[in-house]
Amino acid sequence: MATRFADKVVVITGAGSGIGKVMAKRFAAEGARVAVVDWHGDRAAECAGEIAQTDGHAVAVRADVSVGADVATMVGEVTSRLGPVDVLVNNAAIADGDDVLEIEEPTWDRDVSVVLKSVFLCSKAVLPSMIERRAGVIVNIASVNGLSALGNEAYSAAKAGMINLTQGIAVRYGGYGIRCNAIAPGTIRTPIWQERVDRDPVVFERLVKWYPLGRVGEPDDIANAAMFLASDEAAWITGTVLRVDGGLLAGNYRMTRELLAQAGSEDLES
Ligand code: NAP
Repeated sequence: MATRFADKVVVITGAGSGIGKVMAKRFAAEGARVAVVDWHGDRAAECAGEIAQTDGHAVAVRADVSVGADVATMVGEVTSRLGPVDVLVNNAAIADGDDVLEIEEPTWDRDVSVVLKSVFLCSKAVLPSMIERRAGVIVNIASVNGLSALGNEAYSAAKAGMINLTQGIAVRYGGYGIRCNAIAPGTIRTPIWQERVDRDPVVFERLVKWYPLGRVGEPDDIANAAMFLASDEAAWITGTVLRVDGGLLAGNYRMTRELLAQAGSEDLES
């Protein structure tokens, strides 16, 4: 078994579902002692239980990571049960508000709190012990929405803020041996899409058309990138944002195809 993270203490927020849950299992499979953090305590417990069944080491911690008191209690509990945090993966998010004209103020505040303030709170809670030990890694799960206008304005603005905060932490604490990077996923097949799938069962099939690599992403695509950035293989990488998006932001694939077709260049299309 690969052991890139043998005995490392890895905190993953929003790990009761989707990408976070897969990351928790993957880090544990490579030797990490994982804190599975989610505001749904039952989901966190289920994920930790599944890791235990495969002889991995995980503890479940219920916390709303947008609330300072919850975060302080969560990091205190993780430190006393597992030890000081080596790797923090800021992954929890919600995306409720869309058009600026339609978003109500409480929705804006909630989206920005969960997506952006949580990164501030969790980073602030783990940084002192990382500084003391002159080592530590933070991986922020951002989004292509933080790099381009793709709707969900509150969520997207918060993700853009998360990318800037990633750079701020990388620059300010690099001298202490601390690295901080972000990942910008494109569409990933997870439960966060369930409401959209209920409304439009073929939503993924429709979205595939935008992706040069011809498929939407899976949680393992993001876990692969997060584990690379958290590992020593990325020892000289900090302050970056890694797009893991099947080529979505490399260009407007659909527009290019249409332009080529209009120009009679069908031969270039396939
Ligand atoms: P998911 O399946 O909804 O999982 C996120 C988990 O975090 C859920 O259990 C969620 O609970 C929980 N959570 C939400 N707010 C929380 C809070 N304040 N404190 C603690 N837990 C909280 O989402 P996902 O698709 O795996 O997304 C994971 C990350 O990837 C997010 O940062 C998301 O923005 C990013 N991302 C996802 C996609 C995609 O297409 N899936 C694309 C780009 C970026 P609830 O179910 O109650 O919200």
